Amino acid sequence: MAVEREMFLQCEVKRRRVSAKGGYEPFWKVKPIAEALVDEDTEFRCMTCGGAVKVFKRRSTEAPTAHLEHKLKSDSEHCAAGLHFLKATDGRLARPSQYPVR
Ligand SMILES: [Zn+2]
Repeated sequence: MAVEREMFLQCEVKRRRVSAKGGYEPFWKVKPIAEALVDEDTEFRCMTCGGAVKVFKRRSTEAPTAHLEHKLKSDSEHCAAGLHFLKATDGRLARPSQYPVR
């Protein structure tokens, strides 16, 4: 049986914008991962729980499309979009990552 994998196609990427107070300030923007790779974004997080994610680039035309998975199993177990959370049958509540990327 194939192992089920998470496969998020969207994430938040860290961008900078001009601050009203002067200078720049970071902010998180929702973006498809394929677009973020083209834009050479380097900082990503789960758009649902804010947890760390692993980026999988598309390596060939037969390979799965570029996507993301939670880096931490604990995030997958408690994120509202997490594979382990969705499969859990104990009625647990979703919560933000305990180790959010800031
Ligand atoms: Zn998440």
